[in-house]
Amino acid sequence: MTTLLEGKDILRTDTLTDEELDVILSTAARFEAQLEDEGRLDNMAGQVMAAMFFEPSTRTRLSFESAMHRLGGDVITIADPKTSSAAKGESMADAVKVVQGYADVIVMRHPRKGSAAEAAAAVSIPVINGGDGAGQHPTQALLDTYTIKKEKGTLDGLTVALAGDLKNGRTVHSLVYLLARFDVRLIFVSPAQLKMPGHITEDLVDQGVDVTETDDLAAAMRESDVVYMTRIQKERFDDPEEYERLKGSYVLDMPMVEQAKDGITIMHPLPRVNEIKEEVDAYAGAAYFRQAHNGVPVRMALLALVTGRE
Ligand code: ASP
Repeated sequence: MTTLLEGKDILRTDTLTDEELDVILSTAARFEAQLEDEGRLDNMAGQVMAAMFFEPSTRTRLSFESAMHRLGGDVITIADPKTSSAAKGESMADAVKVVQGYADVIVMRHPRKGSAAEAAAAVSIPVINGGDGAGQHPTQALLDTYTIKKEKGTLDGLTVALAGDLKNGRTVHSLVYLLARFDVRLIFVSPAQLKMPGHITEDLVDQGVDVTETDDLAAAMRESDVVYMTRIQKERFDDPEEYERLKGSYVLDMPMVEQAKDGITIMHPLPRVNEIKEEVDAYAGAAYFRQAHNGVPVRMALLALVTGRE
């Protein structure tokens, strides 16, 4: 038992300690094994999770809901802001202040960067960031880290290529801060317009991480143990023509996998649009659906840890 994360918010990955990361990953592994044996747990019986989603989601919301159900807890949900008082002009801060009277933990997704931190400042129950605009997506990054560990056995010694829209992709903004805790080499693959924000790359270099930037995906895949593809984030573009120009930047197909480093693991936070051809799904190292399934034990761990029910 640990109270390390009890009462805490999960807003970003750069402020998580190594010890907290360890506890999240090991609790997720324990829950995954327990689920296999017992089917369902009761750690969160009598607790309520509020899912407040002001932006589209499939995996994050449903895997959080599934996680809560599998822990024996209950769920209340705003899945479509058009059906909530947000449509009447209610502020997000007012909405979460109300919801804290209905729930023990809030999971929130919102199109504005920094919104999860604002929500957390407004309430006393734990807030978990399910994606704040082009900011961060810490729970995705935790399940990504969990997946790499499961697929590869370790993170140390790996070369990981992150490819696509590194500018707007919030999952990679969170993931790199977790990978930086390990002995990894990172290759950032993007068109010049969609590079990783400079402040993040600088943070990593300051931490001593070996980071290379390129626009050549095939070359990066020849050196990488893992390639993490991302979607070009259409909803973050002001200029639709710019999106049209960039949307086909990278399309991973079987010939590219055949040319890549032996045994390369292919990941994607999903949804994919055209970044990975369906022909790749049958490749043994295509881990993206397994990755999505790992969302359940990792989110179970987060819910139980922040509410002191692990
Ligand atoms: N599902 C992920 C997110 O919400 C990735 C994506 O949408 O491209 O950030």
